[in-house]
Amino acid sequence: AAKKAGRNRFAWFDHSMEHELRTRNELENGLRIAIPRDEVIPYFEQQIDLATGRLTGLEVLARWSHPDHGAVAPDTFIPIAEETGMIAELSLSVMRQALTAARHWDSSLTIAVNISPWQLRDAWLAQKIIKLLTETGFPANRLEVEITESALFENMALAQSIVGSLKNQGVRLALDDFGTGYSSLAHLRALPFDRVKIDRSFVASLNDSPDSAAIVTAIVGLGSSLNLPITAEGIEDARTQERLRAIGCAVGQGWHYGRPLPTTGVRRLLAEKRLVSHGRREAQADGA
Ligand code: C2E
Ligand code: MG
Ligand code: MG
Ligand code: MG
Repeated sequence: AAKKAGRNRFAWFDHSMEHELRTRNELENGLRIAIPRDEVIPYFEQQIDLATGRLTGLEVLARWSHPDHGAVAPDTFIPIAEETGMIAELSLSVMRQALTAARHWDSSLTIAVNISPWQLRDAWLAQKIIKLLTETGFPANRLEVEITESALFENMALAQSIVGSLKNQGVRLALDDFGTGYSSLAHLRALPFDRVKIDRSFVASLNDSPDSAAIVTAIVGLGSSLNLPITAEGIEDARTQERLRAIGCAVGQGWHYGRPLPTTGVRRLLAEKRLVSHGRREAQADGA
C-alpha cells in the first residue's frame, strides 16, 4: 500500500511539475512578446510627505496582464525576466512609458523607478537611463532610482561606477526594502544613497510588535544621523501613519493612500487636487 501511495504521489508530483513548467514557459513567451509592445505598463503609487500630507512623488510599479493567465504579479514575472535576461528591457520600457506620461505632471513631483540588481551588471545602464531622460525630456533631478540590496552587489565596483554616472546627472538614489534580505549597514556607505526605504514587513507589524517599533525607530534615528530621509512602505491604516509621523519618518506610501493607479488615474488625481485647491481659493475669495 505504501508503495502504491508513493507511486501515486510521484505521479501527482510529476503532473504538477509539468503544469508549473508549462505555465512558466507560457509566461516567459508572453513576456517576450509583451515587452516590445509596451504591454508591461507602469502603475503609480503615491508617496506622501507625512508631516504635511502632501503628495511628493510617485513610485512606478510594473503591471502585466497575460492574455490567458490574467494579471500576473511582479513577484512572479520580475524573476522570470531576470532569469531570462529580459529585465533590463522590461524596466527601461516601463520607465520610458512612465517618464513620457510624467513630464506633463506637476513639476514638484519625483518619479521613483525600481532597478533590479541584475541591471547593475550592465556597464551601459547609466547611459541607457540618461538617454531615456533626454528622449522623454524628463528632468534628471526629479528621477529617483530604487535599488534593492542583493548578493549581486558583489560586483560593487561596477555598481558604484553606474551609480556615479547617474548621480553626476542629478539622479537620486534610494535603498529599497531596507532591513531584509542581504541588507547590511555597510551597504549604506557603499553607494551614495539619498534615501532609505524601510521594508513593508516592519511597517505592517508596527502596531503589534514592540520589536518592529524599535527597529523602525532605530532606522529613522540612523537616517537622521546620516542625513538620509526615510520612507516607510506598506502603510495600510491611519494609526500606522500617525505612529510613523510621531517617530519622525519623512515619507510614507501604501494602500492607506489608495492602490497604485494607471496613468489615467494619476492624471485624474492630479486634476482633482488642483480642483480642490482652486475651489478652496474661490471659497476664500467668496468669504472675503
Ligand atoms: P517594491 O519596489 O518594494 O514595491 C513595493 C511593493 O509593495 C509593490 O508590490 C506594492 O504594490 C506593494 N505595496 C505597496 N503598498 C502596500 C501596502 O500598503 N500593503 C501591501 N500589502 N503591499 C503594498 P508590487 O507592485 O507587486 O511589486 C513588487 C516588487 O517588484 C517591487 O517591490 C519591485 O522590487 C519589483 N518591481 C516592480 N516594478 C518593477 C520594474 O519596473 N522593474 C524592476 N526591476 N522591478 C520592479
Ligand atoms: Mg521600490
Ligand atoms: Mg523591491
Ligand atoms: Mg520595497
